[in-house]
Amino acid sequence: MNRALNFNAGPAVLPETVLREAEKNWLNFNHTGMAVMELSHRNKEYETIHEQAKLLLRELLSIPDSYEVLFLQGGASLQFSMVPMNLLTEGKTGNYILTGVWAEKALKEAEKVGNTFISASSKHQQYQSIPTENIEVSEDAAYLHLTSNNTIYGTQWQQFPGNIGIPLIADMSSDLLSRKLTIENFGIIYAGAQKNLGPSGVTVVIIQKELLSRSGNHLPTMLNYNTYADHNSLYNTPPTLAIYLLKLVLEWAKELGGISVIEKRNIEKAKILYDAIDCSEGFYLGHSEKESRSKMNVTFNLTDDETAKSFLHQAKEEGFIGLNGHRSVGGCRASIYNAMPVEHVIQLAEFMKKFRKYN
Ligand code: PMP
Repeated sequence: MNRALNFNAGPAVLPETVLREAEKNWLNFNHTGMAVMELSHRNKEYETIHEQAKLLLRELLSIPDSYEVLFLQGGASLQFSMVPMNLLTEGKTGNYILTGVWAEKALKEAEKVGNTFISASSKHQQYQSIPTENIEVSEDAAYLHLTSNNTIYGTQWQQFPGNIGIPLIADMSSDLLSRKLTIENFGIIYAGAQKNLGPSGVTVVIIQKELLSRSGNHLPTMLNYNTYADHNSLYNTPPTLAIYLLKLVLEWAKELGGISVIEKRNIEKAKILYDAIDCSEGFYLGHSEKESRSKMNVTFNLTDDETAKSFLHQAKEEGFIGLNGHRSVGGCRASIYNAMPVEHVIQLAEFMKKFRKYN
């Protein structure tokens, strides 16, 4: 069976070897006579999966002991609320950098909890770039929140703000595990799994232990980070199947050579598509300014709606899936996460050249 040319933004393509491994174990995991989702979450077999997933994340991302790795549910969207509920204490202000719709949504949830401040924004220029200059931090700032990769607009922080003196909180839903990071520069990193990490259903939260003391006792149990930290993310039933698949994806990433090899591959894949845009003499128009370009989501448009429609139609006929831009911005978007094979990216670039030639 040929794998689809799947450029979906998330849930997205997973490594074929991961799916095959899961298939092999589907009915009878590790000679237990049970499927993974039939195991008790208190069972030794499951506990091993859970521990391995955590350890692999720690190893691949070089997460220091001063950080907890937590598995939650509710997607990145629940983190938009949990971050302010746990960190935005009385009299403090949540600082937000607006780089797109997801950042706006994070801000909206914080506004329901306490004081907020917009530290920088690129909204006035249709979120075509990352506002790296003139980041203002308010008085009594509790934290600075940003979105590391803007899935919809195809922009990405190339270098994170440094020396801000307050915890930096990053929504890394669409680029965690895609490039090297210095974890110590962040207070919290969170990501829904369904782009680079595995299937939807599990959210990874990496939190500096020191920050756990900020959460008030008034918080509902399931919305307090301490509940997850104190119980190894096993206070209640975790999404066991999603965590198993996360573990398989992390094993695949390690096997491939770890983050530096993955990052190199991602740079190579993105270059293939950006070259197709840049060498098209204006036939394809990239949405993002060059210095803010994402290596995960390549966004572009064509000179008029008719040609764009025809491009998407023909691409679909040729088997390319998920190339429509997000419904809020239109145009085209190719999502090329870790598991996207280089060959599929080359095929897309060739299709783009061919389409240009005949139009
Ligand atoms: N943040 C970013 C950067 C995203 O791309 C998405 C989903 N595409 C979200 C947050 C929302 O994630 P979820 O659906 O897991 O709540």
